[in-house]
Amino acid sequence: MNKLIFLFLLFSVCLFAQDNTVKNRDYFGALTTEEREIIVDRGTEKAFSGNYLDLFKAGLYVCKACNNPLFKSDSKFKSNCGWPSFDDEIKNSLIRIEDNSYGMQRVEICCANCKGHLGHVFEGEMLTEKNLRHCVNSISIKFISKK
Ligand SMILES: [Zn+2]
Repeated sequence: MNKLIFLFLLFSVCLFAQDNTVKNRDYFGALTTEEREIIVDRGTEKAFSGNYLDLFKAGLYVCKACNNPLFKSDSKFKSNCGWPSFDDEIKNSLIRIEDNSYGMQRVEICCANCKGHLGHVFEGEMLTEKNLRHCVNSISIKFISKK
């Protein structure tokens, strides 16, 4: 009996270890150096430099690393802050983390699936009715046009 429990535990540990390996390889291994600096090392792309800043076509924005759907194009708005801005997210697609770096109190947003860094979310700026600005690096996301 004890042997069976031991084997079961060993099997579980192997499954867990394998899962992590797969995640690292599949989600982050294929990223370019530039993408890794933002997505894995939680960097910020230069303001007004991103590909999606002025894109307002109908479609979906997914996580660059794992393709998790994050934002719909109808939540994108022009904020003039220098990064793509969304006033809503696809339900359960993001996680929020308190970020006190650089002497600022901000809320970091990451992909709920792969935990890749996306940007920050700001509340109370009254820029749209929903009163939220998800400030997202273009490099962290991928646009899929509506067909
Ligand atoms: Zn992801």
